[in-house]
Amino acid sequence: MTERTPLIAGNWKMHKTVAEALDTTRTLIALTEDVTGVDLMIAPPSVSLAPMAELLTGSRIALGAQNLHWEQQGAYTGELSAQMLASAGCSYVLIGHSERRQYFGETDETVNKRLKAALAADLIPVVCIGETDAQREAGETFSVLDNQVINGLDGLFSDDLGSLVIAYEPVWAIGTGKTASDEQAQEAHRYIRELMDRQFGKALANTVRILYGGSVKPSNVKALMAMPDVDGALVGGASLAAESFSQLAHYQA
Ligand code: PEP
Repeated sequence: MTERTPLIAGNWKMHKTVAEALDTTRTLIALTEDVTGVDLMIAPPSVSLAPMAELLTGSRIALGAQNLHWEQQGAYTGELSAQMLASAGCSYVLIGHSERRQYFGETDETVNKRLKAALAADLIPVVCIGETDAQREAGETFSVLDNQVINGLDGLFSDDLGSLVIAYEPVWAIGTGKTASDEQAQEAHRYIRELMDRQFGKALANTVRILYGGSVKPSNVKALMAMPDVDGALVGGASLAAESFSQLAHYQA
């Protein structure tokens, strides 16, 4: 069986001032010093990236951004490029989070542009996909995943995608307290891995990390992580407090 290093990633969304982010980060570094065999990442609001990068140097925790623009520079008020994020100390970037799809007009086409820009700058992309409640009820889960993967990764080849992380986040489970059952998560993850196999071949399908996201917390993380195709978690609410993120990071203990 292929070894895929698990990844526990925190998405702080639009929470915490710079001072609060640094405060949490200090506690988090101390609480996760002893974590082994699990990659850790936090994606704070962008104003906290550079100051957090300084604190995180030499720690177990990598830094991620929540979004990027596909151009390197230009007249795009309010946007940040992959190069800027890398220069601020990011090694990861979230792409196509459902909140960006829902509130900011993100589409599979813009996901694709952002993904190409992230890869060109050697950022590790975490591409978020997942169906809404209505789509699941209508039996469309797999066709939604097909479209999001095929269109989001369009024009890329397996050699380009060695660092790719996919986050399966059923929209109905994000921030709602409703978690997909372990079996529902496994079924979707298996489907995504098989889709990656059909599109890009077995080698990439076996190594690509597929995270589950949607109301992951210390009480359910262990069972989700025990599923064979769940390689980590993308966590919103439960990543905000250092203590609960640390419990997630120590899920193997
Ligand atoms: C997320 O932000 O990607 C997420 C899954 O949020 P929560 O854990 O709060 O559901």
